[in-house]
Amino acid sequence: MSADGRTQAAALLASLSGSEPAGVWSAPGRANLIGEHTDYNEGFVLPFAIEHRTYAAVGMRQDGVLRVVSTLDRQPFSLPVADLAATFDGPSGRAVTSGAVPEWAAYPLGIAWAALAATGHAASDVTGLDIAIASDVPVGAGLSSSAAIEGATASALNDLWRLGLDGLEIAKLGRTAENEAVGAPTGIMDQVSSTLGREDAATFLDCRTLATESVDLGLAREGLALLVIDTQVKHAHSTGGYRERRESCEKGAAELGVPSLRDLSTDDLVRAQEQLDDVTFRRVRHIVTENQRVLDTVATLRASGPRAIGDLLVASHASMRDDFEISVAELDTAVEAALAAGAVGARMTGGGFGGAAIALVDADRVDVVAQAARDAFAAAGFRAPNTFTVTPSEGARRDA
Ligand code: ADP
Ligand code: MG
Repeated sequence: MSADGRTQAAALLASLSGSEPAGVWSAPGRANLIGEHTDYNEGFVLPFAIEHRTYAAVGMRQDGVLRVVSTLDRQPFSLPVADLAATFDGPSGRAVTSGAVPEWAAYPLGIAWAALAATGHAASDVTGLDIAIASDVPVGAGLSSSAAIEGATASALNDLWRLGLDGLEIAKLGRTAENEAVGAPTGIMDQVSSTLGREDAATFLDCRTLATESVDLGLAREGLALLVIDTQVKHAHSTGGYRERRESCEKGAAELGVPSLRDLSTDDLVRAQEQLDDVTFRRVRHIVTENQRVLDTVATLRASGPRAIGDLLVASHASMRDDFEISVAELDTAVEAALAAGAVGARMTGGGFGGAAIALVDADRVDVVAQAARDAFAAAGFRAPNTFTVTPSEGARRDA
């Protein structure tokens, strides 16, 4: 749909309100090149925006009502701007769990609520809007359709309500909407990547200071592509596993007397091994070495280009498999098959316990590597993976 997601959103708006949009805004999904589980340890991540985008076509209303509709759920949902605070103030996610707002609508409406709260505007300062959403970001596939819908909506409100927010502030609205309005306890990596992405570049984010730098990937110049191998495995215990890993990290930091694992370097690992139990030590070692690998990847990309980062990607995977223990057989198979078929590097990406691997491959070898992954899955008796390339692309923008 990517060529005409914009047209689809505009058509949906027309069928809803019979009017032309005041504008169309879009924001992309994202994938993470390296830096896994480092975000909540105040460390480093290196995600990039992808070409799959979510579009918001928006029309003005004179009655102070916000009406949202999506091609995913054609049932429009309306809420007066004046009711945003009463609906979303209070315990995280209450508007959704109480049934007051459908979960999907809490993303765009949560953005509107967060925007007024962050800028100090009163409901009476802003106009009502019809917001029609269309997307080609697959939902729940680890490519952050949530950050895409947040970024598209927030960019539209920023312009139409003249909020004057910059990209990082728009990303923060997304985090607030997702954490507070929807009730999903996620970090800010996805939103930063979606708002600040650039073509053929990744976004280096320091999750402690929220400082960002754009890092050229040079994939086009080097004839390289990024292949996603989606295992389509979703483990039931992924939420529990995620919480356990967070707790291990907090325990490790507490026992080592630092505010967060970000405050340790690889030089501290000898002491850590002496002081910690084996499992906690290995969790700590993953975070400490992964932070260093993100820094090394940024430096290597700048000094030598993308062909030189393969070993860092492979080391990241080994660390997640052996130390952090968040990989599964399907992810290991995907990585091994990609490397055996000549990938420059490969690793699982995302939270783990399923989801996708990403492989850096010569553009003219994409089909060969994808086929090798499918063959390896068939030989192991796994369900066939879904394979597709992702192209590092521009972040949130106004399209029309
Ligand atoms: P991910 O971000 O990995 O795709 P999430 O669970 O974080 O998965 O976010 C997916 C949710 O975001 C969906 O269940 C839906 O509520 C909302 N969402 C995303 N894209 C759209 C869309 N185009 N239309 C309506 N809701 C959407
Ligand atoms: Mg998400």
